[in-house]
Amino acid sequence: MTMLFVVEEMSVITPFDPWRGRFCTCPPKYSLSPYVGCAHQCLYCYITAYIPDAFRLRPKKDFLKKLRRDLRKVDPRLHISISNSSDPYPPQEAEKQLTRRALQEILSRGLRVQIITKSDIVCRDVDIVSRGNCSVSITITTLDESLAKKLEPNAPSPKKRLSALEKLVEEGVPCSARVDPLIPGLNDEEAVELVGELASIGVLHICSSTYKAKPDNFQRLVSAFPEFEQKLRKLYWVEGQKVGRARYLPSSMRKEMLLKVRKEVDRYGLTFGVCREGFPSLNSGATCDGSHLIPKRFGPTSL
Ligand code: SF4
Repeated sequence: MTMLFVVEEMSVITPFDPWRGRFCTCPPKYSLSPYVGCAHQCLYCYITAYIPDAFRLRPKKDFLKKLRRDLRKVDPRLHISISNSSDPYPPQEAEKQLTRRALQEILSRGLRVQIITKSDIVCRDVDIVSRGNCSVSITITTLDESLAKKLEPNAPSPKKRLSALEKLVEEGVPCSARVDPLIPGLNDEEAVELVGELASIGVLHICSSTYKAKPDNFQRLVSAFPEFEQKLRKLYWVEGQKVGRARYLPSSMRKEMLLKVRKEVDRYGLTFGVCREGFPSLNSGATCDGSHLIPKRFGPTSL
């Protein structure tokens, strides 16, 4: 049976992917970002293509007031994904606590939340996260500290992200990991080892995808890794395909890269999903994004 979701006009809580990207297999959900822009400055980031001054982080104006207003209109069947075009735990969050206060507002209403971050600051909120209907997904692209520093200059190190996952799992928070984007030659080979590491910590679901090139993120990437420029240029701009506004790797290559990760994920008995790849048959979990892990601990309560 097809379920119809009527989405009321809201201000900071918005429907995720309202234009329904051709390859998106996500379940209907909301998106919420307490901040505009992102300070992590990942080379491959796509937000610079559509958010002005995207690497300058700023809190949303009147965020909590608008959030409370929006929460009166949300459809409780849909979960809220925090965040998709910024990290909800930038360094400033340690002092501002916008994400923490948003979680208190949302989780105390018994609504369901998936946190997506690259930051270990999320552990500060384990007291409310572990009691609410909430799962956490941490993105890890590589175990190589120096590669991570180049790829994601201001994000916490892979070691810190793994420790954060360990702590969250210990505290009973259902966790998934995003192993993406896979960039041929840079981090695709070690994804298999990364999956083993994540499985040993107790992560339950892996979501993976290949790097999608846009002119600005491609320029940042090849400026930092000039030794890969020729190969990547050929793969993306000559042999690859255009999907929406991005350049993709050739389809057969993407499938092969993702299948390798999927096989490793299967070996550890985790579930797997791919993000905007056009291979829904590779998904083995109830959802591609891991939102099936969000627990239904209880209804409205006071946290
Ligand atoms: S964490 Fe995400 S939103 Fe922030 S810079 Fe990196 S890719 Fe972009």
